[in-house]
Amino acid sequence: MSQSPDVHICETGPRDGLQNLAVFVPTAAKFALIDAIAAAGVAEIDAGSFVPAKVVPQFADVEQVMAHALKLRGVTVGALVPNLKGAERALAAGVQAIYFVISASETHNKANVRRTVAEQIEGFKAVRAGIDAGPAAGRPHLMGAVSTAFGCSLEGRISGAAVCRVARAYAEAGADEIGLADTVGYATPPLIKSIVEAVRAEVGREMPLRLHLHDTLGMGLANAVAGLEVDIRRFDAAVSGLGGCPFAPGARGNIVTEDLVFMLEEMGLSTGIDLPKLMETRAILRQHVPAEHLTGHLHEAGIPAALWRAA
Ligand code: ZN
Repeated sequence: MSQSPDVHICETGPRDGLQNLAVFVPTAAKFALIDAIAAAGVAEIDAGSFVPAKVVPQFADVEQVMAHALKLRGVTVGALVPNLKGAERALAAGVQAIYFVISASETHNKANVRRTVAEQIEGFKAVRAGIDAGPAAGRPHLMGAVSTAFGCSLEGRISGAAVCRVARAYAEAGADEIGLADTVGYATPPLIKSIVEAVRAEVGREMPLRLHLHDTLGMGLANAVAGLEVDIRRFDAAVSGLGGCPFAPGARGNIVTEDLVFMLEEMGLSTGIDLPKLMETRAILRQHVPAEHLTGHLHEAGIPAALWRAA
């Protein structure tokens, strides 16, 4: 077994990055994207969402995509589910990680999953029970994500108490990990620290925490550094900065995986990711994703040969 890297990165481009695109990315291109991400050494891929195809047509092929991704070795394949029905599909597909979502913002939760926060918490308990009903071996890792944890385009600032309410519900219901998601990209470094510490005070320091960051205000990497400074070592990111939220006008994509990897490695933190290989995902995306959705400083500047260590 190789030593685990200092920072764990989950590549969410195939899910968060594609879910709001107006164009359907062909199934074969999704396969190629996931293959390229895995080949670069990414440890975890958020590969799709188990939602009805009529709600998100992009994931009409999610069963095929998961079956393909799950053939890959050395990578954890996860999927987002908004409810028990989605979780049952994910379990049937054999995914290795399930990401459930509850918004700290009541309004966003309604817009996103058409339920109240209290109803969505009940939904999470049902998912936990559904997983536990299966054999202990092979149970997927269950992460509870708190969406809009750092602000909401519909409600504005979100109180730490609202975030902690959802985090506590997840912890009490048996989440294996809690994700704190800056869904619309309104976080700033001090807010990252205060929310992380508030959640730790609520659920205890043993609960693994993950940050999911968007770059709407250009704060994405600064927020990642703020996370590192409060001992966060698990991050979501998307190749070429894919992504955006339909309920947040102007919301930019996720933090750019390539730029995040460069920064972390420059900080002396290993990621286990081969950056030049990861950059090859751009060529796949360019064929299917409109250019305005593809960002990333390294893609514009190139990896500075004068800085980057020889592979
Ligand atoms: Zn997101």
